Amino acid sequence: MHLTIAAASTALFSTWVFVENFGLLFDAGDGISASLGQKGRKVRHVFVTHADRDHVCGLLQLHQLNARDGIPHIFYPKDSGSFPALKDFMEKFDPQSGPATWRGLAPGETVPLDKTHFIEARTSEHVTMGDLTKSLDYTLCAVRRSLRPELTGMNGAEIGALRKEHGEDAVTEPQIEKLVGYSGDAPQLRPERWSGVKILFHEATFLAPETARSSHSNLPDVIASAAQLDLEALVLLHFSARYKADEIVQAVRQHAAAAKVGFPVFVILPGQVYSDLLSTEPVWEPGCFLDREDCEERQEGLI
Ligand SMILES: [Zn+2]
Repeated sequence: MHLTIAAASTALFSTWVFVENFGLLFDAGDGISASLGQKGRKVRHVFVTHADRDHVCGLLQLHQLNARDGIPHIFYPKDSGSFPALKDFMEKFDPQSGPATWRGLAPGETVPLDKTHFIEARTSEHVTMGDLTKSLDYTLCAVRRSLRPELTGMNGAEIGALRKEHGEDAVTEPQIEKLVGYSGDAPQLRPERWSGVKILFHEATFLAPETARSSHSNLPDVIASAAQLDLEALVLLHFSARYKADEIVQAVRQHAAAAKVGFPVFVILPGQVYSDLLSTEPVWEPGCFLDREDCEERQEGLI
């Protein structure tokens, strides 16, 4: 399934990622309503990673324009007091809108999106305050059912009879597929956290380790760690506005080449809005080289 993903992300200013197929919004930075326009009506589930203003300030307008009959469902880290405060303010500021549904999530909680898809929340390392849950990351999962191995070789009629007598669990078993991982802000990419994820959205605020701060990631580390994963695609976001687009693209290609990254890498450049991110040209593809023209010529067999 092609995921239609709209997104924008600039560190400090605004971050949001909208997976249209599921009406699923990760973070709700400023400008989301202006960018999505009427598509904002499709937002049904909002999962906010933490209360930094660049991840929540779009909620006010999104709520005013779209909240009705308990939708959207807005989820946030359970110990973050900013969200109940925001809810109270919005209800007074825009009493004619809504209600939306607000719920704080504990690490490990899951939220169903439909019959076969759910979101899993986990503590993120971005904001740590003892046992309190102040920041989360999220994974979009799908439940696929496959025939129990011991039934291989049975014909359709036999399987049907077994299902009728003993129920679905007797003939198939559930398997969890991790479709999309979303880091939010994070001090580093830990490969073990994202094992099995197909498409990973990870922040890469800084292009070099020496400028990295403890609560954010840097590009060389993120790419070197991601290279250990078996991803279908890596999407890098939350770059600092101090970097120009060319600088970011070149740095991604350079580090991806050095780490021999075996999957495409997309970037969400500061100040840009994407309407169908995964249909854009990846900045890096396996087999490509630092220079894009060189890469295209190689693909065409000219070199
Ligand atoms: Zn941020």
